[in-house]
Amino acid sequence: MIKGKIHSIETFGTVDGPGIRYIVFLQGCPLRCKYCHNRDTWNKNGGTEKTAEEIVQDALKYKTYMEFSGGGITVSGGEATAQPEFLYEIFKLAKENGLTTCLDTSGCTKASDISDILDITDTVLLDLKHMIPEEAKNLAGIDINTAIDFARYLDEKNIPVWIRHVLVPGVTDSEENLNKMGEFVSTLNNVERFEILPYHTLGVHKWEELGLKYPLDGIPQAEDEDVKRAKDIIEKYGVEIYNKLD
Ligand code: SF4
Repeated sequence: MIKGKIHSIETFGTVDGPGIRYIVFLQGCPLRCKYCHNRDTWNKNGGTEKTAEEIVQDALKYKTYMEFSGGGITVSGGEATAQPEFLYEIFKLAKENGLTTCLDTSGCTKASDISDILDITDTVLLDLKHMIPEEAKNLAGIDINTAIDFARYLDEKNIPVWIRHVLVPGVTDSEENLNKMGEFVSTLNNVERFEILPYHTLGVHKWEELGLKYPLDGIPQAEDEDVKRAKDIIEKYGVEIYNKLD
């Protein structure tokens, strides 16, 4: 059995997918988000090695809580799809053992290239970085059209998705971006939840610990009123925003 590179594990996650979840954060990310709160995940050669069997066996210790709450296993990152064979093995074993599966991704991988994984994925958490291609490239190093196609693929296959968007003052909160976001998401029929995640600076220390300059130094955290404004713009498109202000 192949071994994957693991950054960390959270045994009792309550925000990354439905119910109580066992969350596996994989090591390695091809993106370069300026606000990355897990800067220590980027290096694909770091982390600790484990097999999918070790992961799922450990997750099964919490099966009662997961079943009771409608939860299961979530694989996040870094970027979970950057270790596709390993991700597939975790999900396959999870399903064989009666656990639901949730993939947390930026959508940077062509969906049809990982169709075997998506066939056994119950929910996708899709973090849409920015709807304007040049801005997405500049902010996160992603070709946003790949993520948009990823979202369309999930819709075609009727795989439930939670869309997420990090609201960064002066970076992702332009009317143009938020209008495009609302317009696009309103075309999808598989969205179970749309969350606006207010930008925070809790991950800055990880950059500092690595001796790196934080790229968004000086940008303020998003406040409740920023989220409210973004919510109002997006909801004009008939898309309901789920957030803690409600
Ligand atoms: S996708 Fe996530 S882990 Fe990767 S750079 Fe962006 S915020 Fe960091």
